[in-house]
Amino acid sequence: MSASEAVTDALRELHGRFAGVRDGQRATYIPELAGSDPDDFGLALVSMDGHSYSAGAADTPFTLQSVSKPFAYALALASLGLDEVGRWVGAEPSGEAFNAISLEPDTGRPANAMINAGAIVTTALIPDSREAPAFQRILTCLSRFAGRKLDVDEAVYASEAATGDRNRALAYLIRSTGTLPVDPVAAVDTYFRQCAVRVNALDLAVMAATLAHGGVNPVTGERVVSPEVAAQVLAVMATCGMYNGSGDWLLRVGLPAKSGVSGGLIAAGPARFGLAAYSPPLDATGTSVRGRAALGELSERLELHLMRNPALPGSTVTLVTTADVLPSAPSGRRERALHERVGVVAAQGALDFTAAERVLYALDESGPERNGAVVLDLREVTGADSLALALLHSGLSRLARDGRRAAVVDPGDRLGPPDLVRERTGQDLPRFASREEAVEHVAQAMAGPG
Ligand code: GLU
Repeated sequence: MSASEAVTDALRELHGRFAGVRDGQRATYIPELAGSDPDDFGLALVSMDGHSYSAGAADTPFTLQSVSKPFAYALALASLGLDEVGRWVGAEPSGEAFNAISLEPDTGRPANAMINAGAIVTTALIPDSREAPAFQRILTCLSRFAGRKLDVDEAVYASEAATGDRNRALAYLIRSTGTLPVDPVAAVDTYFRQCAVRVNALDLAVMAATLAHGGVNPVTGERVVSPEVAAQVLAVMATCGMYNGSGDWLLRVGLPAKSGVSGGLIAAGPARFGLAAYSPPLDATGTSVRGRAALGELSERLELHLMRNPALPGSTVTLVTTADVLPSAPSGRRERALHERVGVVAAQGALDFTAAERVLYALDESGPERNGAVVLDLREVTGADSLALALLHSGLSRLARDGRRAAVVDPGDRLGPPDLVRERTGQDLPRFASREEAVEHVAQAMAGPG
């Protein structure tokens, strides 16, 4: 027993809650899928540190089916870029079923890459490379997302290949509109193979976590796609991932997600978690009934809804005050009066643009008086991205223009190398290792030589 078992307990509890649900039907139009066990139910969660948790049948194998679509889309985007991929497949929710004949009237493009028509085109766009044919590239990409070598369930592949006339018909139709760049039979065959790649719920959670983690697999540490591609895929999952249930899902659950007819379902909490469920019985939109219920509940409990803005209750600024109230304040009246004019702001954590805005606002609050001074204590700051640095530098140069002296407590050079800071702020910003030294320095400077 360990402390983190508490996370597993939460999943087990959810699992227990929905295991008894008997609604939904297994997909039977791919005959092999009709043989899956309707009682199988697995849940998995993977954190951005690559910690994995699961409950129930999380290592039972099943085929990806449509859950493969976002990952093939990622590979197409990584190979060809958004503009080229966008010429062939759109990014609008179709509001229609997964196998609908959903082609834009003017361009003939499929509405998006999450429905069959768009996914067949996406797969067809992935070129053979010198090292590997297209399907091998797709399999390798899926494996890198999962963090292990995946394979094809040949029985499911053969079963869909033998019965998949609707998808073949779709491919011919798309070809007739001029928006399928390759032979329809070959395109659909590769698509069927991609759908028949075998995974388990834990793999799916790792795959979702890789998208949530900006394209880096949090378990293996491997970069699979760029942060831009990961964001593009999540955006299309958010608007189109749940077929004709996409709007309702985004409204209620608030996460990019993708379902598949074998009963797999993924959802990604950007920068937070990858979630996955497996349970074969499906609702009318082709989504796992238990999966939908469990991931919906999980999103609510963990407050993952995207529109709830997880960044809000941050605590970047830990202190906004004036130096006279600090324990180190001098007792003499004259010194005290000087210290009253020294604002002190302390910040902590990783600074991005949002956090930097808080810091600058706090600098103003700490003593808006002209000719005063301010000490910015960055000892507890763990890092600052380039946007945060640019904003901090320009804020500090404005302070100087306003006649407010500044000093920083920045032994770790979080503000960047002194040369850069000089160039950006137009001043030699004094830096100190302790807050007391910084306060003393600006107080003395204000007091002037006389
Ligand atoms: N291979 C399935 C099909 O094309 C995938 C559909 C799905 O999972 O929604 O019909």
